[in-house]
Amino acid sequence: MNFSDSERIAGILETAGYEKTEALAKADVIVVTMCSIRQSAVDRIHSLVEKFNKIKQARKLQTTHYPLQTVLTGCVLKRDKNIFIEGFDYVLDIKDIAQLPKILKNKTSANTSQLCHDKDTKYLDIAPKHESKFTATVPIMTGCNNFCAYCVVPYTREREISRPAENIIKEVKNLVDNGYKEIWLLGQNVNSYRSQINTNKNSRIFANKISENSCVISFAKLLTLINQIPGEFWVRYTSSHPKDFKQDVISAMAEGNHISPYLNLPVQSGDNKVLKSMNRHYTVAQYKEKIKQLRKAIPNICLSTDIIVGFPGETKKQFENTVKLFKEIKYDMAYINKYSKRSGTLAYKLGDKILADEKKCREKTLNDVLRKTALANNKKYVGKELLVLIDSKKDNKYFGRTNTYKLVEVTSNKKGLVGNFIKVKITKANPWRLEAKIIN
Ligand code: SF4
Repeated sequence: MNFSDSERIAGILETAGYEKTEALAKADVIVVTMCSIRQSAVDRIHSLVEKFNKIKQARKLQTTHYPLQTVLTGCVLKRDKNIFIEGFDYVLDIKDIAQLPKILKNKTSANTSQLCHDKDTKYLDIAPKHESKFTATVPIMTGCNNFCAYCVVPYTREREISRPAENIIKEVKNLVDNGYKEIWLLGQNVNSYRSQINTNKNSRIFANKISENSCVISFAKLLTLINQIPGEFWVRYTSSHPKDFKQDVISAMAEGNHISPYLNLPVQSGDNKVLKSMNRHYTVAQYKEKIKQLRKAIPNICLSTDIIVGFPGETKKQFENTVKLFKEIKYDMAYINKYSKRSGTLAYKLGDKILADEKKCREKTLNDVLRKTALANNKKYVGKELLVLIDSKKDNKYFGRTNTYKLVEVTSNKKGLVGNFIKVKITKANPWRLEAKIIN
């Protein structure tokens, strides 16, 4: 989401006449899109402030250069805003980012308390400056209502607001028309997306697609509508919450030929007591049932998850339940995080007594299971002919992703493959990547 926000900020600045520079020392404006998910990310901002101050000092000796203006935005806790207003020229709520050029021009003092927020999703409609010519992120909502015990997002991004479906569809259509091949729909909890639309007013977009004059668009319906856009493209999405991930989304995925058969469904723990203490609102049995339904409808689904090991109070026995779940689900990928205390969250009050070595050991245990299940899953791909969207190149090796989001390495001397779909035959499976050759 922060990456997507940064592309929108770049869009605003470019429209206002700014040009991008890779060299900090040459910049007239530096905008930091902050992440608050871990304390370590917040701590890194302090060292950035020191770096920026040095540049400002050096600028004072140069008479020809504009002074450097620094801006902090993104996911920032209110308490951190008060701290960082000392180090930055401006601390802006992300929803106020459209006002950035005016603030920079007038050199108006701005912190969040001095601006009226656009309490809606207007900032998401700012035209972004995409870094890539073939893959793009499209935010569909912002904020979160869930208050998971370890997470600051509901405090930094506030409550959920969904972006109007017609704006999302227009943006996706525009991207597809301009040759984009991979679209990531983004939101903190995409499964609770809801938007009311007037189908009369938007008859050009929704013609023949929904009959009612006005209706509510759920996430499943949004996927279905996006799937009807003509073109050659894949749609992926993140993030999902298991409690809101329902059958209608499974059906939309199964029926949509553009919708990637890949899902990241963060389970966080395989133990009901830990899940309760994380305030996750589902049980392990409910989670497993959803996976069962998903696999029934989409047999080739590729599954990843997010896990926190060493959450406050997690016993060895409770952790073993997570290991058991990992063995049962046989994930393709997992993003395993060692719990770290984050002030401002509900879990902060629970302490953090599990030793770092123990957390490391739990992380390794899960990684060992994952390596085996990922390799076993990948072996099923050997000999298959698949489409791969090539996204990068190093020496004579190209890298890309399948529609199931599997990383594929292709050795080729051909030129100009980046950004294109190519047909390959999988020749070898490793736990974290497939090897393939191009089919002519
Ligand atoms: S669902 Fe939970 S983890 Fe995800 S953003 Fe919301 S509070 Fe944070």
